[in-house]
Amino acid sequence: MAFIHYRTQGFVLKKTDRFEADRIFTIFTFDWGRVKVLARAIRKITSKLRSGIDFFYLSEIEFIQGKTYKTLTDAIALEKFKNLKEDLGKFKIAFEISEVLDNFLKFEEKDENIWNLIIETFTLLNRPEVTPRQGGDLTKYTRSSLIYYYFLWNFFSTLGYQPELYQCSLCWKKLKPDNLYFSSKDGGVICQACSKSEKEAKKINSSVIKVLRIIFKKDSQTLSKLKIEPVLEKSLKDISENYYLYLLRENLKFDKIKV
Ligand SMILES: [Zn+2]
Repeated sequence: MAFIHYRTQGFVLKKTDRFEADRIFTIFTFDWGRVKVLARAIRKITSKLRSGIDFFYLSEIEFIQGKTYKTLTDAIALEKFKNLKEDLGKFKIAFEISEVLDNFLKFEEKDENIWNLIIETFTLLNRPEVTPRQGGDLTKYTRSSLIYYYFLWNFFSTLGYQPELYQCSLCWKKLKPDNLYFSSKDGGVICQACSKSEKEAKKINSSVIKVLRIIFKKDSQTLSKLKIEPVLEKSLKDISENYYLYLLRENLKFDKIKV
Protein backbone atom coordinates (compact mmCIF):
# COMPACT_ATOMS: atom_id res chain seq x y z
CA MET A 1 0.00 0.00 0.00
CA ALA A 2 1.43 3.36 -1.00
CA PHE A 3 1.31 6.11 1.56
CA ILE A 4 1.05 9.79 0.80
CA HIS A 5 4.04 11.70 2.08
CA TYR A 6 3.19 15.06 3.64
CA ARG A 7 5.86 17.73 3.80
CA THR A 8 5.82 20.93 5.84
CA GLN A 9 7.79 23.05 8.27
CA GLY A 10 7.29 22.66 12.00
CA PHE A 11 8.48 23.90 15.33
CA VAL A 12 9.07 21.21 17.98
CA LEU A 13 7.21 21.91 21.24
CA LYS A 14 7.60 18.61 23.07
CA LYS A 15 9.21 15.21 22.89
CA THR A 16 8.27 12.05 24.75
CA ASP A 17 10.20 8.80 24.64
CA ARG A 18 8.27 5.66 23.75
CA PHE A 19 9.43 2.05 24.02
CA GLU A 20 13.15 1.44 23.63
CA ALA A 21 14.07 3.76 20.82
CA ASP A 22 10.98 5.61 19.59
CA ARG A 23 10.03 9.17 20.33
CA ILE A 24 6.80 11.14 19.90
CA PHE A 25 7.17 14.78 18.92
CA THR A 26 4.51 17.43 19.40
CA ILE A 27 5.07 19.88 16.57
CA PHE A 28 3.39 23.13 15.60
CA THR A 29 3.37 22.92 11.80
CA PHE A 30 2.82 25.64 9.25
CA ASP A 31 0.14 23.68 7.37
CA TRP A 32 -1.79 21.82 10.06
CA GLY A 33 -1.04 23.57 13.34
CA ARG A 34 -0.40 21.19 16.23
CA VAL A 35 0.37 17.59 15.26
CA LYS A 36 1.88 14.58 16.99
CA VAL A 37 4.39 12.60 15.00
CA LEU A 38 5.98 9.28 15.85
CA ALA A 39 9.68 8.95 15.09
CA ARG A 40 10.52 5.26 15.00
CA ALA A 41 13.94 4.14 16.26
CA ILE A 42 15.15 7.74 16.39
CA ARG A 43 17.08 7.18 19.61
CA LYS A 44 19.31 4.62 17.90
CA ILE A 45 22.72 6.02 17.06
CA THR A 46 22.29 4.95 13.43
CA SER A 47 19.04 6.85 12.93
CA LYS A 48 19.13 9.27 10.01
CA LEU A 49 16.40 11.38 11.58
CA ARG A 50 18.36 12.22 14.76
CA SER A 51 20.17 15.29 13.54
CA GLY A 52 17.11 16.81 11.87
CA ILE A 53 14.68 17.16 14.73
CA ASP A 54 14.81 17.92 18.45
CA PHE A 55 13.37 20.13 21.19
CA PHE A 56 12.85 23.74 19.99
CA TYR A 57 14.06 23.04 16.45
CA LEU A 58 12.47 24.56 13.41
CA SER A 59 12.58 21.64 10.97
CA GLU A 60 11.35 20.67 7.58
CA ILE A 61 9.54 17.42 8.18
CA GLU A 62 7.94 14.70 6.12
CA PHE A 63 5.50 12.16 7.50
CA ILE A 64 2.96 9.55 6.47
CA GLN A 65 -0.49 9.21 8.00
CA GLY A 66 -1.07 5.72 9.41
CA LYS A 67 -4.18 4.40 11.15
CA THR A 68 -3.11 5.56 14.59
CA TYR A 69 -0.04 7.68 14.11
CA LYS A 70 1.63 10.03 11.78
CA THR A 71 5.08 8.55 11.23
CA LEU A 72 8.10 10.72 10.59
CA THR A 73 9.97 9.79 7.41
CA ASP A 74 12.35 12.73 7.03
CA ALA A 75 13.56 15.72 9.04
CA ILE A 76 15.94 18.54 8.16
CA ALA A 77 16.88 21.11 10.79
CA LEU A 78 16.38 24.64 9.43
CA GLU A 79 17.15 26.51 12.68
CA LYS A 80 18.29 24.88 15.90
CA PHE A 81 17.88 27.95 18.17
CA LYS A 82 21.10 26.86 19.83
CA ASN A 83 21.19 29.53 22.54
CA LEU A 84 17.95 28.26 24.04
CA LYS A 85 19.66 25.05 25.07
CA GLU A 86 22.90 26.62 26.24
CA ASP A 87 21.36 29.19 28.57
CA LEU A 88 19.25 27.87 31.43
CA GLY A 89 17.24 31.11 31.75
CA LYS A 90 16.30 31.00 28.08
CA PHE A 91 15.58 27.30 28.18
CA LYS A 92 13.08 27.78 31.02
CA ILE A 93 11.27 30.53 29.11
CA ALA A 94 11.19 28.48 25.91
CA PHE A 95 9.83 25.55 27.92
CA GLU A 96 7.09 27.68 29.49
CA ILE A 97 6.09 29.00 26.07
CA SER A 98 5.76 25.47 24.71
CA GLU A 99 3.64 24.55 27.77
CA VAL A 100 1.29 27.47 27.04
CA LEU A 101 0.92 26.32 23.43
CA ASP A 102 0.38 22.74 24.50
CA ASN A 103 -2.27 23.77 27.05
CA PHE A 104 -4.31 25.84 24.64
CA LEU A 105 -3.88 24.16 21.26
CA LYS A 106 -5.58 20.79 21.31
CA PHE A 107 -6.56 20.29 17.68
CA GLU A 108 -4.98 20.28 14.23
CA GLU A 109 -5.76 23.70 12.83
CA LYS A 110 -3.64 25.91 10.59
CA ASP A 111 -2.99 29.32 12.11
CA GLU A 112 -0.50 31.63 10.43
CA ASN A 113 -0.71 34.26 13.19
CA ILE A 114 0.33 31.74 15.81
CA TRP A 115 3.00 30.39 13.48
CA ASN A 116 4.47 33.87 12.93
CA LEU A 117 4.35 34.63 16.65
CA ILE A 118 6.19 31.41 17.54
CA ILE A 119 8.96 32.02 15.01
CA GLU A 120 9.27 35.69 15.99
CA THR A 121 9.38 34.93 19.73
CA PHE A 122 11.97 32.20 19.48
CA THR A 123 14.13 34.26 17.13
CA LEU A 124 14.05 37.13 19.66
CA LEU A 125 14.81 34.82 22.57
CA ASN A 126 17.67 33.17 20.70
CA ARG A 127 19.48 36.46 20.13
CA PRO A 128 22.77 36.34 22.08
CA GLU A 129 22.40 39.84 23.53
CA VAL A 130 19.09 39.07 25.19
CA THR A 131 20.23 37.14 28.23
CA PRO A 132 23.72 36.64 29.59
CA ARG A 133 24.65 33.34 31.15
CA GLN A 134 23.81 32.93 34.81
CA GLY A 135 25.68 35.33 37.03
CA GLY A 136 25.64 38.06 34.40
CA ASP A 137 23.90 41.41 34.36
CA LEU A 138 20.53 40.91 36.06
CA THR A 139 18.84 43.78 34.25
CA LYS A 140 19.24 41.79 31.05
CA TYR A 141 17.50 38.83 32.62
CA THR A 142 14.41 40.95 32.95
CA ARG A 143 14.44 41.47 29.24
CA SER A 144 14.30 37.77 28.46
CA SER A 145 11.33 37.37 30.77
CA LEU A 146 9.66 40.26 28.94
CA ILE A 147 9.89 38.15 25.79
CA TYR A 148 7.80 35.55 27.60
CA TYR A 149 5.13 38.16 28.30
CA TYR A 150 5.43 39.42 24.73
CA PHE A 151 4.58 35.94 23.54
CA LEU A 152 1.92 35.21 26.15
CA TRP A 153 -0.23 38.33 25.68
CA ASN A 154 0.05 38.35 21.90
CA PHE A 155 -0.88 34.67 21.92
CA PHE A 156 -4.03 35.50 23.95
CA SER A 157 -4.72 38.21 21.42
CA THR A 158 -4.56 35.77 18.47
CA LEU A 159 -7.05 33.57 20.34
CA GLY A 160 -9.40 36.56 20.56
CA TYR A 161 -8.70 37.56 24.17
CA GLN A 162 -6.85 40.86 23.86
CA PRO A 163 -7.76 42.78 27.03
CA GLU A 164 -9.17 46.30 27.04
CA LEU A 165 -6.46 48.72 28.22
CA TYR A 166 -7.78 52.15 27.24
CA GLN A 167 -11.28 52.33 28.70
CA CYS A 168 -12.92 50.75 31.73
CA SER A 169 -14.10 47.30 30.60
CA LEU A 170 -17.34 47.73 32.57
CA CYS A 171 -18.51 51.36 32.37
CA TRP A 172 -16.45 52.32 29.27
CA LYS A 173 -15.18 55.56 30.81
CA LYS A 174 -11.70 56.64 29.73
CA LEU A 175 -9.13 55.46 32.28
CA LYS A 176 -7.30 57.87 34.58
CA PRO A 177 -3.78 56.73 35.56
CA ASP A 178 -4.49 56.19 39.28
CA ASN A 179 -6.30 53.42 41.13
CA LEU A 180 -6.81 51.02 38.29
CA TYR A 181 -7.65 47.33 38.51
CA PHE A 182 -7.38 44.37 36.17
CA SER A 183 -10.32 42.01 35.98
CA SER A 184 -9.72 38.78 34.05
CA LYS A 185 -13.44 38.00 34.10
CA ASP A 186 -14.35 41.36 32.54
CA GLY A 187 -11.55 41.17 29.98
CA GLY A 188 -9.34 44.10 30.92
CA VAL A 189 -8.71 47.12 33.08
CA ILE A 190 -11.52 48.54 35.19
CA CYS A 191 -11.85 51.81 37.11
CA GLN A 192 -11.89 52.18 40.88
CA ALA A 193 -15.66 52.73 41.06
CA CYS A 194 -16.35 49.51 39.13
CA SER A 195 -13.72 47.56 41.10
CA LYS A 196 -15.93 47.76 44.21
CA SER A 197 -18.29 45.18 42.77
CA GLU A 198 -15.47 43.00 41.38
CA LYS A 199 -13.84 41.27 44.32
CA GLU A 200 -11.36 39.29 42.23
CA ALA A 201 -9.98 42.31 40.35
CA LYS A 202 -6.28 42.99 40.98
CA LYS A 203 -4.72 46.39 41.38
CA ILE A 204 -2.62 47.31 38.34
CA ASN A 205 0.01 50.03 38.09
CA SER A 206 -0.31 52.34 35.07
CA SER A 207 3.32 51.51 34.13
CA VAL A 208 2.33 47.86 33.77
CA ILE A 209 -0.53 48.93 31.49
CA LYS A 210 2.04 50.85 29.41
CA VAL A 211 4.21 47.72 29.09
CA LEU A 212 1.16 45.76 27.93
CA ARG A 213 0.33 48.43 25.35
CA ILE A 214 3.91 48.18 23.97
CA ILE A 215 3.51 44.40 23.84
CA PHE A 216 0.27 44.63 21.84
CA LYS A 217 1.81 47.12 19.43
CA LYS A 218 4.31 44.34 18.75
CA ASP A 219 7.03 46.88 19.33
CA SER A 220 9.82 44.45 20.12
CA GLN A 221 12.42 47.22 19.56
CA THR A 222 11.10 49.33 22.45
CA LEU A 223 10.52 46.23 24.50
CA SER A 224 14.15 45.14 24.19
CA LYS A 225 15.31 48.50 25.60
CA LEU A 226 12.78 48.59 28.41
CA LYS A 227 14.01 48.47 31.99
CA ILE A 228 11.32 47.28 34.33
CA GLU A 229 11.60 47.52 38.12
CA PRO A 230 11.27 44.23 40.03
CA VAL A 231 8.08 45.38 41.78
CA LEU A 232 6.43 46.13 38.44
CA GLU A 233 7.62 42.88 36.98
CA LYS A 234 6.07 41.08 39.93
CA SER A 235 2.79 42.84 39.22
CA LEU A 236 3.01 41.94 35.50
CA LYS A 237 3.67 38.33 36.50
CA ASP A 238 0.66 38.20 38.86
CA ILE A 239 -1.72 39.70 36.33
CA SER A 240 -0.41 37.49 33.53
CA GLU A 241 -0.79 34.34 35.66
CA ASN A 242 -4.27 35.36 36.76
CA TYR A 243 -5.43 35.95 33.18
CA TYR A 244 -3.70 32.78 31.93
CA LEU A 245 -5.46 30.59 34.52
CA TYR A 246 -8.78 32.30 33.91
CA LEU A 247 -8.55 31.72 30.13
CA LEU A 248 -7.41 28.14 30.62
CA ARG A 249 -10.47 27.41 32.80
CA GLU A 250 -12.76 29.07 30.24
CA ASN A 251 -11.12 27.12 27.43
CA LEU A 252 -11.63 23.82 29.25
CA LYS A 253 -15.31 24.63 29.74
CA PHE A 254 -15.56 25.44 26.04
CA ASP A 255 -13.91 22.14 25.07
CA LYS A 256 -16.44 20.25 27.19
CA ILE A 257 -19.33 22.04 25.49
CA LYS A 258 -17.88 21.22 22.06
CA VAL A 259 -17.65 17.51 22.93
ZN1 LIG B 1 -15.70 51.67 35.33
